[in-house]
Amino acid sequence: MQLKIIDVIVPLPLHGTFSYNVPESMEYPQPGMRVLVPWGTKQLVAIACKKRLTPIDDDIIIKDIIAVLDDRPIVTTEQMALWQWVAEYYMCPIGDVMVAALPTKANDKGFSFSPIAKRRVKLPEYIGEIEDIHIPDLQQSHAMTQIKEQWQQHETVLLHGVTSSGKTEVYMHLIKEQLAADNQVLYLVPEIALTTQLTDRLQRIFGDKVIVYHSRVTDAVRAEIYRQQLYPNAKLIVGARSAVFLPFAKLGLVIVDEEHEPSYKQQDPAPRYHARSVAIMLAKQHGAKVLLGTATPAVESYYNALNGKYGLVVMTKRFAGLQLPAITLIDLQRQYHRKEMYGHFSDPLVARIKEELAREKQIILFQNRRGYAPMMSCTNCGTTPKCVNCDVPMTLHMRTRMLTCHYCGYSSPIPMSCPNCGGTMKIHGFGTERLEDEVQNLFPSARVMRMDLDSTAKKSAYQDIINAFAHHEVDILIGTQMVSKGLHFDDVSLVAVLNADNLFNQPDFRCYERAFQLLEQVSGRAGRKGQQGEVILQTFDPDNPIYKYLQNHDYPAFYQQQIAERKTFYYVPFCRMITVILRHKDENRVINAANFLQTRLMQVFAKRCSVVIEPSVARIQNMHIRTIRLRIEEKANYTLAKQMLKEQIDYIINLPDCKGVQVLPDVDPQ
Ligand code: ADP
Ligand code: ZN
Repeated sequence: MQLKIIDVIVPLPLHGTFSYNVPESMEYPQPGMRVLVPWGTKQLVAIACKKRLTPIDDDIIIKDIIAVLDDRPIVTTEQMALWQWVAEYYMCPIGDVMVAALPTKANDKGFSFSPIAKRRVKLPEYIGEIEDIHIPDLQQSHAMTQIKEQWQQHETVLLHGVTSSGKTEVYMHLIKEQLAADNQVLYLVPEIALTTQLTDRLQRIFGDKVIVYHSRVTDAVRAEIYRQQLYPNAKLIVGARSAVFLPFAKLGLVIVDEEHEPSYKQQDPAPRYHARSVAIMLAKQHGAKVLLGTATPAVESYYNALNGKYGLVVMTKRFAGLQLPAITLIDLQRQYHRKEMYGHFSDPLVARIKEELAREKQIILFQNRRGYAPMMSCTNCGTTPKCVNCDVPMTLHMRTRMLTCHYCGYSSPIPMSCPNCGGTMKIHGFGTERLEDEVQNLFPSARVMRMDLDSTAKKSAYQDIINAFAHHEVDILIGTQMVSKGLHFDDVSLVAVLNADNLFNQPDFRCYERAFQLLEQVSGRAGRKGQQGEVILQTFDPDNPIYKYLQNHDYPAFYQQQIAERKTFYYVPFCRMITVILRHKDENRVINAANFLQTRLMQVFAKRCSVVIEPSVARIQNMHIRTIRLRIEEKANYTLAKQMLKEQIDYIINLPDCKGVQVLPDVDPQ
């Protein structure tokens, strides 16, 4: 008798697939359809992925599936292949990829992907005005020609264009051509909530063809987008990283805007994937082209471009002859020494802000910390209030009058005196709230707004702030890196960074790269419409060479300096990195497991394996953390290295002493 066996992927953090029997009376489900299967005493909605006619192992009793839930596949063959690739490359369970990839819980039983499903929602129709794309200027049209030429030889092209060179304009022309050829386009952005200016403009140009996909829209809307994608339909999908998992029927182009942004990498939970890498893989499956765009390329991407792996196209000038902003440094050491400071503002900065306010210009102040101050401590015994769940000082928030943990959200009232000895508490450092207070004291008649995670927690708050600033109802905008993201305001003449050094003082080989990117992006907000903008950086370390590169807007020189360092110290891209994260509630247990794994890895990987590392935040939400880092030669067999790592992980997680310890590989950590 011929058996009907189906292998399925279950939405659980488990590697591999599971075999079930299809009862005689039931249709054989197609790969990509959902099936209901028994799982212990429960039932699970799984995805059918492979038919087979003989069992893998005669000894195993195969259970029957309970029902087939779809009348047509909801996951395409290409998608399943991509899931498989992500699971293997990022060393994570395919069940985790499935959960990340589907728009709603697969077991949402009231929900069906069938075209006649009951619970469908209507996607909003675009009813606003429609406008044309600008006519490209000479540069821009030159860039387009070059991009297309480069695509002849490379699947992926890096477009390195300074801020406001018109990269977005170039994208739009390329999108128009793709849509005209009836191809789909995927336009990835780092964080969709911060790109309303962009999505509005895309909608004015492409109308209903624009579909915005991200985690903030409801499950039902995401499911409807997903469903529509299953039908060949020329559309422009604008989305954050998870949009790479949508079904595509005829994909022609993937744009990865701000390709250097760290938020393209998912940190937690698995799959810990980088959307840029998955996008390149996705494009390869479809024979589509990839365009990576940025003013400040990731060092890895620029390296790939210089080495011929990617094509490279450069736009060095801003649109309409606008100059790049002039960057001035203010030496904080000298200012403090001379007592020429008011709070965290140096006298020259105060003077410049006053002048710009008098000219009715707008100002952006950047400080990469929210809250009032990052910590407080006792002047007598030195006690610092820490989170009960995490090994971090609590951040002072004056608006809520609370100390809050930025890792887990735990809050407690601000102590009036030291909880340990009753001594006087002192506040250290400053965040956006404290700046806001200082600004209000310094410039009492200025209209001030703050843009950070706290002030934009409510749904429309972000948009309200942007609108108020765009309509010049606000003179000074204070914000975290949120203000650095692709916003265009015509009246901003001055951008100031209160403490630029903050960004470099981090124990991470990428911190210079990140700091350069952030400062160059923030600077790019200054100066539109015919006037050169001005950027003031306050720093204790004005001789740091990074400031020269910034002042000259010289990314290639910055890159050369960085790449030389990376080579000397053997970092990415000269090696490939995998961080193994170990977590457990019990510190001793996690230390033991880490030591044990490290010893075994040393035997296999020798000097490629680090010692056990205690991270700077070694406990988060009551989980103690240790890490081990592997550095694999650039040219070595990465797949094999991962296999060897997996064997060792599989070995130790089964040891009684290591029971319950989470051992999580992070491939290409950011
Ligand atoms: P980038 O993406 O490189 O930062 P944008 O594409 O957003 O730059 O362009 C910067 C500004 O210049 C935008 O306001 C845009 O509308 C304007 N702009 C760019 N190219 C043109 C053009 N060819 N005609 C008219 N305006 C343009
Ligand atoms: Zn905490």
